[in-house]
Amino acid sequence: MLQDIREVLISEEELQTKIKELGATLSEEYRERNPLIICVLKGAALFMADLVKKMDVHLEMDFMDVSSYGSSTKSSGEVKIIKDLNTSVEGRDVLIVEDIIDSGLTLKYLVELLEHRKAKSVKIVTLLDKPHHRKVDLTADITGFTVPDEFVVGYGLDYAEKYRNLPFIGVLKPHVYEGQ
Ligand code: 5GP
Ligand code: MG
Ligand code: MG
Repeated sequence: MLQDIREVLISEEELQTKIKELGATLSEEYRERNPLIICVLKGAALFMADLVKKMDVHLEMDFMDVSSYGSSTKSSGEVKIIKDLNTSVEGRDVLIVEDIIDSGLTLKYLVELLEHRKAKSVKIVTLLDKPHHRKVDLTADITGFTVPDEFVVGYGLDYAEKYRNLPFIGVLKPHVYEGQ
């Protein structure tokens, strides 16, 4: 697997240092609010797992799976709920945990859905932001890292369902795509 990596953009150590910082910020923000932390599957699973361990507050977790990408590297612009929440968001302080924001379409849809379901507040923490391809006006409340306009993998992010288990964020060698 490692032989497919062209470049490491964010190392394991940089990720963990940042997540500790984000956890401290979020602990302040959500003290005594019993937030519902929503992981957008599957990409945000590793980030969510590390982030909640750095949050020293009572919180609840739930998971949602939406699709806008399939296994290709381009956004289709369509958002479909594959797995919905098990928890009611009505009156709750909700924090959406996302892996990366690209077009912003997925999150815009999710935020509107949760507001429609009467969440008390909806905020977004994203590990990565790729601001170049925004199609809608959307910014995360908290961003870990801004990344260049390249398709990145690792630490939860896949290419054709692979590479999620890399401990860092990296870019693949071109031959990996050509082998499709
Ligand atoms: P958006 O709706 O903002 O265009 O897309 C968000 C989703 O597309 C992300 O949650 C992620 O699953 C996928 N995505 C966007 N950019 C990348 C990327 O560079 N690498 C990977 N692996 N997934 C991406
Ligand atoms: Mg995602
Ligand atoms: Mg994907």
